[in-house]
Amino acid sequence: MSVVDLITRPDTPLVGELFPSPNIEPRKPGYAPSMLILHYTGLPTVERALDVLSRPDCKVSCHYVIDENGRIIQMVAEDLRAWHAGVSYWGGETDINSASIGIEIQNPGHMLGYPEFPAIQMRAVAALSHDIVLRHGIAPHYVLAHSDVAPGRKIDPGEKFDWAWLARQGVGNWVAPAPLDEGDPGLQPGCRSADVERARRLLADYGYKIDLKGSFDADMQTIVRSFQLHFRPARTDGRLDRSTLDTLSRLDMPRSLKDGRIA
Ligand SMILES: [Zn+2]
Repeated sequence: MSVVDLITRPDTPLVGELFPSPNIEPRKPGYAPSMLILHYTGLPTVERALDVLSRPDCKVSCHYVIDENGRIIQMVAEDLRAWHAGVSYWGGETDINSASIGIEIQNPGHMLGYPEFPAIQMRAVAALSHDIVLRHGIAPHYVLAHSDVAPGRKIDPGEKFDWAWLARQGVGNWVAPAPLDEGDPGLQPGCRSADVERARRLLADYGYKIDLKGSFDADMQTIVRSFQLHFRPARTDGRLDRSTLDTLSRLDMPRSLKDGRIA
């Protein structure tokens, strides 16, 4: 018997089907799930997604897949480490796969038309997420997008994913975004100002990987876009405009971070 076995029974009665993935390993010692990471599959069909997420040569996996009809498929037992986050970071943590549970939501993604997430699918996302955060005591601030933990590399689940609605179902941290001012171009790229410093501090305190010092450079624009994809989805251009800064300023900060301050 190997150290890690394929899944044989679901972790929650919400699961409609098991589709075991061999792309698994133990979580690193000392790790239990403290984050929930939401993705879209970026593949045309759920069948393709299940194939990719279970093929040894693809070397990716996740704990759950939710199809367009709200069917919940479990691929990896929650106590094991799935391979969904890749190179990533949040609040000082770099082994996001050991620290998290990953849900892949079937959606072809930005490269393939990026349809809306159907309501029936969103209800399944909410039900499963609620179940997971309750059982593991995952704080609302640690329900995150793949784009939050891998800025620049990942943009899923993207601006059409309704975090506001999910928060109303009791999942995740949310603040109403400040209205968008179409005439506000935001700060000039490369500029240095008190607003830039304040935004860097707030983004770092929230968990994003950003240095506290620096100008409004390309790296910062990437992080701002990740923030917008989650919290200010009306425009996700990476510009530091008034609406973005105001939304960020009103966001409730996590109580404890492993290493939120990257001095
Ligand atoms: Zn992803």
